[in-house]
Amino acid sequence: PMSLSDPVKPHRICVCVRKRPLNKKELAKKEIDVVTIPGNGALLLHEPKQKVDLTKYLENQTFHFDYSFDEDATNDLVYRFSAKPLVKTIFEGGMATCFAYGQTGSGKTHTMGGDFSGKSQNSSKGIYALAAQDVFTLLRQKRYADIDLCPYVTFFEIYNGKVFDLLNKKAKLRVLEDEKQQVNVVGLQEVPVSSVDDVIKMMEVGSACRTSGQTFANASSSRSHAVLQVILRRRNFLHGKFSLVDLAGNERGTDVSSNDRHTIVETAEINRSLLALKECIRSLGQNSEHIPFRMSKLTQVLRDSFIGENSRTCMIAMISPGMNSCEYTLNTLRYSVLPA
Ligand code: ADP
Ligand code: MG
Repeated sequence: PMSLSDPVKPHRICVCVRKRPLNKKELAKKEIDVVTIPGNGALLLHEPKQKVDLTKYLENQTFHFDYSFDEDATNDLVYRFSAKPLVKTIFEGGMATCFAYGQTGSGKTHTMGGDFSGKSQNSSKGIYALAAQDVFTLLRQKRYADIDLCPYVTFFEIYNGKVFDLLNKKAKLRVLEDEKQQVNVVGLQEVPVSSVDDVIKMMEVGSACRTSGQTFANASSSRSHAVLQVILRRRNFLHGKFSLVDLAGNERGTDVSSNDRHTIVETAEINRSLLALKECIRSLGQNSEHIPFRMSKLTQVLRDSFIGENSRTCMIAMISPGMNSCEYTLNTLRYSVLPA
């Protein structure tokens, strides 16, 4: 079992995988769990133990990550090994970014936002709140208190290549790149925060804004990328930025059956942005000079995350364990495993 002591030093890019438990619906349908986490960063996709019609997707296959988390892992454990080692980066004047990737229903929002529904007794914090907690702990430390850093939060959504401010009634925002290649989201609200509760409040305001006014709230939010940023400013100048990204569901990437024009456009845009993200992350991993961040709005807006010596990124690939999700699971695994 994994120890809870402080994990290793962050490298420039860290990729983790997290398997969620089978849910009630899946258990009721007698879904078969085809994912095992043997530990040491490995994930095994295997044939079902029970006899069923084998699909072409099911051969035993092992994938390797920096860390792999099974269905018993808490948000806190996942956080400690993924995003937590990146918090220091923004105090040292760098950019940190954490991506949650996977099909709809695989646990991206659960991991990032946690469960604040209030319906369950054991509401658990997600990476947004856990990271905010660590930011405020460090802000109080003398060495950082002395340099006068001010924390702010932004929260926006990228849908169909357009940016909407979740802290300002979904105002549509323009993205401009200046002559120094700095990318600006014009008019994006930066809300000053002075406690973890302030951040949680903004997270709730933004999440409500994300899904309001839509009949198919969940379906719609799964087609957009949500970006929550914790920004540190020193005398108004940008010092560091932590971007926490709940990505659009990647299942659209395989859905080519639709005839609906709107869906086709939407799908193309999601494919474009997830492909662009993969390219940027690969370039980062290979310490390449050229990062193709202009390939999509998502990567353009996150340009700072990919440029500069002091950038750190982690990607958490979320996995649904059921056999019926196998095709999507394979897509997710193939997307996230970095070439050796
Ligand atoms: P996504 O954002 O990827 O579409 P969600 O985070 O909304 O998926 O998760 C779908 C459902 O599964 C939610 O009800 C969520 O609470 C539950 N869930 C996801 N991951 C876990 C987990 N690791 N443990 C328990 N429940 C989970
Ligand atoms: Mg979600």
